Amino acid sequence: MSTHSEERQLLAEADQRALNYFDGIATRPAFPPNEAIAGLAALDQPLSEQGYPATEVLRRLDEIASPATVSSNGPRYFGFVIGATLPAAAAAERLVLAWDQCASSFDNSPAADALERVAGRWVTELLGLPQDSAVGFGTSATACTLACLSAARRALLARKGWNFDGDGLIGAPEIRVVVSASAHITVKKALRILGFGINRLIVAPTDEQGRVDPLQLPVLDDMSILCLQAGEVNTGEFDPFSDLIPRAQAAGAWVHIDGAFGLWARASSAASLAADVELADSWTTDGHKWLNTPYDGAMAICRDADALASAMNSDAAYATASRDAQKNLTLEFSRRARGIPIWAAIASLGRDGLRQMIDRHLRQASHLATRLREGGFQVLNRVVLNQVLVRADNDEQTVAIRLAAQRSGQVWFGPTVWQGRPAFRLSISSWRTTDADIDLLADLLISLKQRSAP
Ligand SMILES: *Cc1c(COP(=O)(O)O)cnc(C)c1O
Repeated sequence: MSTHSEERQLLAEADQRALNYFDGIATRPAFPPNEAIAGLAALDQPLSEQGYPATEVLRRLDEIASPATVSSNGPRYFGFVIGATLPAAAAAERLVLAWDQCASSFDNSPAADALERVAGRWVTELLGLPQDSAVGFGTSATACTLACLSAARRALLARKGWNFDGDGLIGAPEIRVVVSASAHITVKKALRILGFGINRLIVAPTDEQGRVDPLQLPVLDDMSILCLQAGEVNTGEFDPFSDLIPRAQAAGAWVHIDGAFGLWARASSAASLAADVELADSWTTDGHKWLNTPYDGAMAICRDADALASAMNSDAAYATASRDAQKNLTLEFSRRARGIPIWAAIASLGRDGLRQMIDRHLRQASHLATRLREGGFQVLNRVVLNQVLVRADNDEQTVAIRLAAQRSGQVWFGPTVWQGRPAFRLSISSWRTTDADIDLLADLLISLKQRSAP
């Protein structure tokens, strides 16, 4: 057992090491060099019988692992729409760690309960979603989609008089699930886990930008769930909600929106991209992407608060709580108060600060697209959001330029396949990314293209 002063010293040392890491955030390689990755082998020690002193554990962690991290918290990481961490959110997370709250309900943590309620209200206000929606703070858009879709299923079955909690699925009226042809893999994962069966999903065809084509919308009825998206991962596009949602609802269907990153457009000057998305029944979105909060923080938002609270209820004789306690809105029973860094991010930005951050990313994406087009690249999408989808003169050159850019250590972004051919995808979502970082990225790609054979 360590004494209070030893514990204090250890935490101070962790803070110091974190600050040193942070001081290098803008200059460290965007992806770790090979030597650093090879160095990770040193972690592969036999399981110790007696354990090591905590200062030694911390030292090894920092000296071996810090150099092998990806600089996703830096300014020039353009992969996977993942964002960095805002200072207020990072600071809140540090304090919350000291609290070590089990944020299941008011009884476990009045502070967490109050903060997450406020955060939920602010999120629905910023996104322009119905104010009395339930907001569950879950680990990921994946987990939150699972929560929303289980609420959808339970509610549709209840309308037909079927008791899902008691009788399960066998013999239940059939639910038809219609998903966009460009639905994110995690939406399909949630549906698969819930037992809907990938082969039984009805696919809604999409246009060349990845949006559901209203003319080809499959037939919907009052036992259908329609999964649409705000922010397609490659193009950043939005399904035509104004057309689709009223039609689905007239048929009695439940509409779920995957808005992992794109829903935040609602807090920007480009809110009209997602016009009428508030008409849907449920939404998922991430904090850890465009809001720039730490992992893992996401939200399940459900218009019918009771539907989510019933589907996710986990009241036990020894642990009852109000229906809208977080343990009754998410998968987790014991849980971290992941709504608190979200609360802190929003409290520090305010409506204006958030709008400015998103608007800046939109402007930077369109500037990047212009520069790359001028530099001879093909930009494959319309660049309505923060995603720029790019190809060079041919597939070999596209791949070679991406690999060379990754090797440079100056930037990082990932590959994708668009309409059957390789492309690369540049996502602008870090609050740290400046206009100069965007020009550096454009200069680098253009010079790599000039140097590579056509
Ligand atoms: C990232 C992403 C997801 C999954 O989000 P997680 O929080 O990583 O589970 C779902 N949909 C879209 C469009 C995404 O970009």
